Amino acid sequence: MGRVLIYLRPYWKWMALAWLFMLTELIIELWQPLLMGKIIDDGVMKQDVAAIFTWGAVMLGASLLAFASGIANSFAAAYVGQEYGFALRTALFAKIQSFSLARIEQLAPASLITRMTNDVTQVQNMLFMSLRIALRAPLLVVFGVAMAFVVHARLALVLAVAVPLSAAFLLWVVQRAAASFSAVQRALDRVNGVMRENLAGMRLIKAWMRKEYEEERFAAANNALMERTMGVLRLIETITPVLLVLMNTAILALLFFGRLDVESGTASAGQVVAVVNYATRATAALSMFTFITMAFSRARASAARLAELLEVPEERSGEHRADEPIVRRGEIRFEHVSFRYPDSELDALSDVSFVIHAQETAAILGATGSGKSTLLQLIPRLYEPGAGRVLIDGIDVREFSVEQLRMYVRFVPQEVLLFSGTVADNLRFGKMTATMEEIVQAARDAQIHETITRFPDGYDALIGQKGVNLSGGQKQRLSIARALVGQPRILLLDDSTSALDAETEAKLLAALRRYACTTVIVTQKVSTAMAADTILLLEDGRLIAQGSHEQLLAASELYRRIVATQEGKKGSIDVTTA
Ligand code: ADP
Ligand code: MG
Repeated sequence: MGRVLIYLRPYWKWMALAWLFMLTELIIELWQPLLMGKIIDDGVMKQDVAAIFTWGAVMLGASLLAFASGIANSFAAAYVGQEYGFALRTALFAKIQSFSLARIEQLAPASLITRMTNDVTQVQNMLFMSLRIALRAPLLVVFGVAMAFVVHARLALVLAVAVPLSAAFLLWVVQRAAASFSAVQRALDRVNGVMRENLAGMRLIKAWMRKEYEEERFAAANNALMERTMGVLRLIETITPVLLVLMNTAILALLFFGRLDVESGTASAGQVVAVVNYATRATAALSMFTFITMAFSRARASAARLAELLEVPEERSGEHRADEPIVRRGEIRFEHVSFRYPDSELDALSDVSFVIHAQETAAILGATGSGKSTLLQLIPRLYEPGAGRVLIDGIDVREFSVEQLRMYVRFVPQEVLLFSGTVADNLRFGKMTATMEEIVQAARDAQIHETITRFPDGYDALIGQKGVNLSGGQKQRLSIARALVGQPRILLLDDSTSALDAETEAKLLAALRRYACTTVIVTQKVSTAMAADTILLLEDGRLIAQGSHEQLLAASELYRRIVATQEGKKGSIDVTTA
């Protein structure tokens, strides 16, 4: 809880103000039954109309003041709540940005979304509650009972029994509810998870007519959420009836004993009315505990989940040093590199060693799952090797700052992702200061310039939804152009030319050769690999051969088989069929 509440610090003045208004409201409310007693004893009983009017006017004025304080309090509470929610979401977002890929995979994106939205709202609600009623309600109960003792101690004894009983019951419910609310939040995570997957895979689901199956899957998650929530609500719903029975019995007892006392002359009618009035106010305050309990139990579960995120230590990112190395030539060297994904039993790469000289083009060939994407991602340190070293220009990649590394080593992932915005915005993604000339040059080299000029708005065309729709090959070329903006020293293409026809691909590769950068291309096509200076052949996470096309033909049985299956078919036959 503390980890989450430190973001409240800047708002303590507003919180103090909110509580001040709340106290004003409270004091007036505690005074009201006394006034009422006075009107009865001095006015009604003595048939003094002037006294009734005087005290009535005082009561009305006090009520108005209480009303104004209440509104002011709501205002301050809402202000703090919203500002705090903003600060908390900002902090969480920044934190998530700092996470490594491995960490994000561990946390599951669906759960991150629930945390950023629902959990923050819960904590925000609790904050609003605590500024508005969470403190007022218990104070009203305690001081209401105390005032009742001041008015008539013997009658107030009834409350001294009923109120602690009610409080004990409340405490018992709160403790049981808190645990259940964590379960509700987890169920909500699962609903979000199914929803997210469903939306991402909509095309596939429709094409494969998996609608029913998906509906069942969603119904299961949705049902679990409903049942969990209902379980907690049932528990919470017992509060009000139990409370009302306890407190109304107490009020009945008050009226009964009160009548006896009035008859025997040990209490005035006004005193009985005042004590009963304190009892009804205490009852109302106690029934507020239902909401307070809900808000607090949920918020406690939510705060714990947020703290879990906030407590993750900052992952080491480029702390700048004066003697920081710079990526100059772009030579890539792997020394006995092994790597395993966080929750995997098998090495994705084992004992891989090779050199790709500066400004060479290297092709990586291998079956699906042989570790090609993994190998690429180790170069810009998206993941860190478990054993061995990855070196650029002879320097361990861990020595470079992340900024330096990601500026000069451009990785084009296998799945193309373009952001909403214009074509130019997307191309400027890696270098915000890029000029239009640089952007156009990159687009030309990636063989996409012609296509862009045919869009209605050219480089200002919007992508997706309300703008142009791009084919797979166009998206691939756009994402390559994006990587070329900013003159990288190392370019890593993860199967980024798979959707291109042979001619466009050849032009693109020729254009890339003009760049003074080391290029590593993951590919399934022997024809693409043949154009490279060196070919790395991967199988099950091991580098089984490296060399030119001729060298590999002579040296590797696997390579000969791959070539044989693609011979004459000049296309993209998956090497898994080899
Ligand atoms: P390729 O790109 O050659 O198809 P990858 O490098 O993607 O192969 O995968 C190599 C191995 O690592 C595969 O066995 C794959 O299942 C596993 N793998 C890939 N990505 C992850 C991940 N994020 N978490 C766990 N295992 C993974
Ligand atoms: Mg891959």
